[in-house]
Amino acid sequence: MARPPRLRFAPSPTGFLHVGGARTAIFNLLHARRHGGTMVLRIEDTDLERSRRQHAEQILESLAWLGAEWDEGPIRQSDRLDRYRERALELVARGAAYRCFCTVEELENERGEAEARGRQYRYSGRCRSRADADPSAPHVVRFRVEPGTIRFHDRIRGEVEFEGELIDDFVLLRSDGHPTYHLSVVVDDIDMDITLVARGEDHLSNTPKHVLLFRALGAEVPEFAHVPLILGPDRKRLSKRTGATSVEEYRNMGVLPQALFNFLLLLGWSPGEDRELITREEAARLFDIGQVHRSPAVFDLEKLLWMNHQYMQRMEARELAPLLEPLLAEPAEDRQTLTALVRMLQPRARTLREMAEMAAPMLAEDDGFEYEEEAVRKHLRGEDLEARMQELRDALAGIEPFELGTTEQALRALAEARGVAAAKYIHPLRLALTGRGASPPIFDVIDVLGREKTLARLDRLLARIPALRSGS
Ligand code: GLU
Repeated sequence: MARPPRLRFAPSPTGFLHVGGARTAIFNLLHARRHGGTMVLRIEDTDLERSRRQHAEQILESLAWLGAEWDEGPIRQSDRLDRYRERALELVARGAAYRCFCTVEELENERGEAEARGRQYRYSGRCRSRADADPSAPHVVRFRVEPGTIRFHDRIRGEVEFEGELIDDFVLLRSDGHPTYHLSVVVDDIDMDITLVARGEDHLSNTPKHVLLFRALGAEVPEFAHVPLILGPDRKRLSKRTGATSVEEYRNMGVLPQALFNFLLLLGWSPGEDRELITREEAARLFDIGQVHRSPAVFDLEKLLWMNHQYMQRMEARELAPLLEPLLAEPAEDRQTLTALVRMLQPRARTLREMAEMAAPMLAEDDGFEYEEEAVRKHLRGEDLEARMQELRDALAGIEPFELGTTEQALRALAEARGVAAAKYIHPLRLALTGRGASPPIFDVIDVLGREKTLARLDRLLARIPALRSGS
């Protein structure tokens, strides 16, 4: 039987976790789960200028929130600098790499000459045979790239080929002794026994270099899977210009982790049969990295919001309530009120933020919200408006018991008795209770508010009708 695969997710902590990175993590995780393998988390923090400890913490936190949990690690590259050096020097000793003493000016000259002749620049390799140079003089360590075709297998793209001639003698150690990305990534993939490297397609052109390094370091070359990019609505690479790009931003928007996980999973993969909603557990039984589509996926925010709505609808109100709570400007009186409110808003809100926004007037003090101007213009009309509202108020004050069916019955009976449409009562009532022109079904609103608050809010509107109507 084949050995269980070992995969890794290797973010660079230079900012928040990008949704593209999160998708790569999800693909790695699900492939590992499906095949009884392991996912290692590695923090690629060798770029000291751009890496930040707090970014690394933030990325771990986003992954955990999303439910893309790793099995081993996190391993930090900054803890392993000696190891990278050791392996690079081993290559120098064996002649597979060499010290390069070229100065910045020399390299600039070479580049200038190549460009003047209209050629793409590649390092000439002039230090390959500079055996006499003094190793204590400033230098970098370069890998010696020999001509020949480099082939590797990609689970998504099939057989891939690159010509060795086109590849530079790339740097392994910088002049300060720091490893380059190519060196640290390959040394780690070897030491962590990685059998399948799944990462973004933007790394495809680095892979031939890595293949050469694996071989030179005496290791088996792993398999690869280069995941196509995510495009924005403009069909260009997803960027901040056209929308949020980090997991954190969607979290703040009130998207549920299960929904974001599901949505990202479907960017480039499909469980078949036109299915859209799939749990992590189910995906872990079906997913294989080889099924990921070769063409790029387009990030469709509307679809994410739709999906989030589906997840919110399917949750129990009492499970959603504690998630909504931290987003509320004013707390609910008690858990029961909050749960009732959530239940009422579930069919309408696409995100927790939207839900919080809809809940705001309901939770405000009875005189703590404004009336929407347009709704005032539209619904505070008619000679008999005040009389109508007063009569409604009195009817609601007297009914027993005060509950969903009885309040509706009272309003409808009143409308019928006066020979006017129920809407003539309902719209101003909605304005009184929520300050808005649109809300969940009005009798549900009454039910959540209860008699006391309903009456207080009607009284407030009644007192303000003259001023509101005169526009002051
Ligand atoms: N650290 C790289 C990145 O964040 C990923 C490298 C890799 O997966 O090999 O893009």
